[in-house]
This record gives sequence, C-alpha cells and structure tokens, in this order.
Amino acid sequence: MKIAILSRNPELYSTRRLVEAGTARGHEMLVIDPLLCYMTIATQRPSIHYKGEALTGIDGVIPRIGASITFYGTAVVRQFEMMGVYSVNESVAISRSRDKLRSLQLLARKGIGLPVTGFAHSTKFTGDLIDQVGGAPLVIKLLEGTQGIGVVLAETQKAAESVIEAFRGLKAHFLVQEFIKEAGGSDIRCLVIGDRVVASMIRRGKEGEFRSNIHRGGTAEVVRLTPEERSTAVRAARIMGLNVAGVDILRANHGPVVMEVNSSPGLEGIEKATEKDIAGKIIDCMEKNAKPNRTRTRGKG
Ligand code: ADP
Repeated sequence: MKIAILSRNPELYSTRRLVEAGTARGHEMLVIDPLLCYMTIATQRPSIHYKGEALTGIDGVIPRIGASITFYGTAVVRQFEMMGVYSVNESVAISRSRDKLRSLQLLARKGIGLPVTGFAHSTKFTGDLIDQVGGAPLVIKLLEGTQGIGVVLAETQKAAESVIEAFRGLKAHFLVQEFIKEAGGSDIRCLVIGDRVVASMIRRGKEGEFRSNIHRGGTAEVVRLTPEERSTAVRAARIMGLNVAGVDILRANHGPVVMEVNSSPGLEGIEKATEKDIAGKIIDCMEKNAKPNRTRTRGKG
C-alpha cells in the first residue's frame, strides 16, 4: 500500500515510528506536511497538490494533525476523503475531538462518566457557576491549553473567583471542573485502536503536583485496567468516531471519569512505558480497513 502520514515534522518520534512500522510491513510510506498541500475544489475531480505535483495513488492517510493547525489540517484530510482515500481518523472526528466542550457534551449524552464540568460566557454569576461544580477546591482550564499549561487548581472559593476573573479579563475560553482529589495526581492514558485498548499507562505527577503531564515532570508506567475502565475508553473513542485515540481517564471514587479524548496521541511515552509496538498496530488497523471509498463521510462535515 501507499500510505501518507500527514505530519509537519518527519523527525518526530511518532512520525518516525509509523514510517518504520509501515516500511517493515512492505508499504510505501510518505510523510506529507499538510500545510504544504494545496487543493482544488471542483465538483467532479477534487485533487491535492504537493510540491508542484498531484498526489495520486494513495491508499490511506494517517493524520497527525497538531492542535495549532487543526483548521487547515482537517481541510486537507477532508479533501483526501472527498477523493475516496481512507483516513484512519476522519476529519469530522478530529474536529470534534479538538473542541473540548463539544467532546464533553457528546460523551455526557452517551452516559460516559465525566468530572462535573461547567462553562459560561457571561461575567455574571461566577459564584453560582462555582457552586454548580461543587465549590472549591476546583480545577479551572483554559480551553486552548495543552501539556497541562493553563490548568489551575483553585483551593478556595476566593482563589477560584480570582482566577476566573483573570481568565475573563484575557478574554480566554475556559471551563471549571470538579477536582478529582482521589486520583492523587495521576491519570491513565488508554491507547485505543479500533475497538480495543491496545496499551495503557498510568502517569504520576511529581511530588506536590496535581497535574500528571510528563512535560511537567511526571513519570509513566504500565497499569492494569479494570474492565470498566477498558470499556469506558473504547466507548469514548467510538462516540468521538476515532479509530485511533488516546483516552485520558481519572480514577474517581465513583468509577472512571474521562478527561479528554486525543485524536493524535503521542507514541513515544506509551511505547517506552509499555514496550509495545503501537505504530505497528496502527498500520495493522490501516491494512484491515483501507479500501477505496471506505471513508464513511466522503468529506461530509
Ligand atoms: P492538558 O490537556 O493540557 O494536558 P488536562 O485537562 O489533561 O490538560 O489536565 C492536565 C492534568 O491535570 C491531567 O493529566 C490530570 O493529572 C490533572 N487534572 C486535570 N483535570 C483534573 C480534575 N478535574 N481533577 C483532578 N486532576 C485533574
């Protein structure tokens, strides 16, 4: 097969591993920078050009679209879908997962356990918004934050009000969330491919830190999931419409709660922690599913 990885940087661990795994299975692997693709949108024959030439004969794409290029990146994926090319994760599912509020609403509607979460636009009734999620301590998150930046634990009502005021002053979008204290600064990353959790790890924040992000000094190791955690992760990925997803779960007293579903999960942390060939499993999934016009949406939004 001829497989295109949509990635801005061929040197990234995840991109390198996907190329390696595909090549080892006898596929022709291309790394294509989505920002360098340009497209013609015509009723009859949609096409994609890259570095002066039309991209043809591609059997499937693996999108690795960073959060900062979601808008253009998903347009490129959608164009491939219009051409009948199979994408491991479809453009609609990627867009859906990038919108945190929309994701939480979709998951809630299907009964997935979530931390109680509030959001508001108006600057009025901050006190009531805080009460709605159970009062302090609570977590306040910037919607466009990644790697734990912009995630704040407000220990008291006063602190929560000050942080909310500050975020509002910056005209930033944010949400407020029940603090799952019993998670003890840990979260679980479940790597879902198709309808299975193929690997999972627990990330623990460094001493005194409630955020478990590796970028914030956290550590990762293999963890055994309960059947409930396993089925929650698989259902969350399915609800989002993702074939490949990183589902982040907190262990709450009342069971697993989903924090986030990531459509381009990094492979380095999970492969190193579990010593599993996740890139190979993504290629296997591609081999099983990629057929011309197999994309369900054909680019429909
Ligand atoms: P990012 O997407 O920037 O990594 P997250 O929402 O995943 O932000 O939050 C970063 C970390 O903070 C999580 O991995 C988790 O350890 C911790 N955390 C986030 N939300 C909560 C919460 N509601 N209760 C307890 N811990 C939380």
